Amino acid sequence: MSDDIWQTETLAVRAGQERSQFNEHAEALYLTSSFVFESAAQAAARFSGEDEGNVYSRFTNPTVTVFQQRLAALEGAEACVATASGMSAILSLVMALCRAGEHIVASSGVFGATQQLLGGIMPRFGIDTSFVDPCTPAAWEAAIRPETRLFFLETPSNPLTTVADISALASIAHAHGILLVVDNCFCTPVLQRPLALGADLVVHSATKYLDGQGRVLGGAVVGAKALVDEVFKFLRTAGPSLSPFNAWVLQKGLETLTVRMQAQSAKALELARWLEAHPRVARVFYPGLPSHPQHELAMRQQASGGAIVAFEVKGGREEAWTVVDHCRLLSITANLGDVKTTLTHPATTTHGRLSAEQRAVAGISEGLLRVAVGLESVADLQNDLARGLALI
Ligand SMILES: *Cc1c(COP(=O)(O)O)cnc(C)c1O
Repeated sequence: MSDDIWQTETLAVRAGQERSQFNEHAEALYLTSSFVFESAAQAAARFSGEDEGNVYSRFTNPTVTVFQQRLAALEGAEACVATASGMSAILSLVMALCRAGEHIVASSGVFGATQQLLGGIMPRFGIDTSFVDPCTPAAWEAAIRPETRLFFLETPSNPLTTVADISALASIAHAHGILLVVDNCFCTPVLQRPLALGADLVVHSATKYLDGQGRVLGGAVVGAKALVDEVFKFLRTAGPSLSPFNAWVLQKGLETLTVRMQAQSAKALELARWLEAHPRVARVFYPGLPSHPQHELAMRQQASGGAIVAFEVKGGREEAWTVVDHCRLLSITANLGDVKTTLTHPATTTHGRLSAEQRAVAGISEGLLRVAVGLESVADLQNDLARGLALI
């Protein structure tokens, strides 16, 4: 297929599909754990890797392959390997590319489980991580050791939507023989393509926007074939593989990714502008607003501000909780990426295990709320938030 000449929105709908002998229009779902061989010789060739066909769904499965090819096309990558969740994508990547004694530099404020994996679990296996300010390239350079193997970056960050310069960090990484990994969960390839900006690998929690409707867990590692092959070798042995059913749901999710990201970003911008003008709101964090500290960089690096808006109410925890508790429409949940808008109080949920001092350093105040904007009417979202805001 001539995927290379198609635009992103076409790739999202069409890339990677291979029809069976039945010529089905929608992608088939191959719920099978193993595959049958035509002869002993073919079985031997499949097992030795001489013949590329399917063997066992821990290794490959045709439905998973469609999802992988489609996501690779969207990220402009040679290859993709799908995983059971976003965390298993990050785990597989680290296990495949790092060995004991090596070192990682990661942005401070990465997703909580990523922080725990890199900072809490991997040191037990001799892989240490230094966490640095994502917006200070000099801090990344200063943290490099002779044994540094990876830079791990999340941009925009959660929940404050801090934007880091992918190209600048790629230059520093490459000057030292280090690989740059970008978690592209918040933007997806519709809004940001890290590989084109110099990153070596992209990781995804497909659970979020790639699914887009809060149904299944999934993840992926995307990039150059040689690197993705290393991750695949770990995955096929260790087993955190994506189930064919989840892959089928996710490749359907990709078909609507372009319109969802565009619509949810446009609604987020409208909500952010309204919040910024609200008398009970102290500050809004949204990369699409000129008031955002990295607005210009965000507009260069991303196609839009994305669908996550954070804001501080005037006051602290009590006032923030008043807004949360008067919502009837927004879902009180820490998940994001859904077409249903979600509302989170980070200081007492996603960032609740940090000490007050760590939260202060990370800029997570007691009055901070995070909205992951979905597809409802912006007027309805505003009315829902206005009810609590009027009481503080
Ligand atoms: C949710 C999330 C992850 C982890 O993904 P799971 O699919 O929940 O394992 C990693 N990074 C970011 C930025 C996330 O939001």
